[in-house]
Amino acid sequence: MIKETINKLKSELPATVKLVAVSKFHPFEAIEEAYEAGQRIFGESRPQELLAKVKMLEEIRLQKNDSAYMSDIEWHFIGHLQTNKLKMVLPYASLIQSVDSVRLLQAIDNWGRANNKVLNVLLECFISGDETKQGFSRQEILDIISGEFRYDFIHISGVMGMATYTDDEQIIRADFRRLKEISDMIQDRLGECANLGSDCKEISMGMSDDYPIAIEEGSTMIRVGSMIFGERKY
Ligand SMILES: *Cc1c(COP(=O)(O)O)cnc(C)c1O
Repeated sequence: MIKETINKLKSELPATVKLVAVSKFHPFEAIEEAYEAGQRIFGESRPQELLAKVKMLEEIRLQKNDSAYMSDIEWHFIGHLQTNKLKMVLPYASLIQSVDSVRLLQAIDNWGRANNKVLNVLLECFISGDETKQGFSRQEILDIISGEFRYDFIHISGVMGMATYTDDEQIIRADFRRLKEISDMIQDRLGECANLGSDCKEISMGMSDDYPIAIEEGSTMIRVGSMIFGERKY
């Protein structure tokens, strides 16, 4: 089932949209199955779980005596990240999608300086009507990119957001449009901020239930979990 769903999704996605397979709460075997189907990017939302899976892969490589086994796998971190857990995540994740505070930006920058590593991040934006969700407001994004802050060890690759949890397609669409507008605002100011690469174009939006709408509204990266791996057992 995992393979079939990955193949189907990939055949439907426009070439401009990357697929992140959200493997949180699913065992490593599920990741291997998706990898065999050609999937390379996996999303995890808990530091301990990401670290455990990284270690498990190292263990499997030893067992197989094959240091190149799944060597081109990419981990994206998509959950809330506390500053005391950075060392579980930053050495392994190729993209931190869920940077939601200036405090976290600063902590990541400090970690990067200490470890001489530039970290790729997305700025998580608050676009929904759900008070429980995290993220920067449009004004906070403006403050960050207008150069008030400088981070030598952070590369901002774009924005991420989650739509309101609802069946109402109009509300979901309006949320995604807000994120697209924030991305457009960033495009207009690319030259003004040292932290923004000329490639600061990623718009990570869309999950199992709403990714078709997200793609229509300009998503470049969808994060799909339950549709690929089944329901999560918390
Ligand atoms: C869990 C999660 C997803 C995947 O959700 P599904 O509905 O299972 O596709 C996507 N993005 C984030 C940030 C998540 O935490």
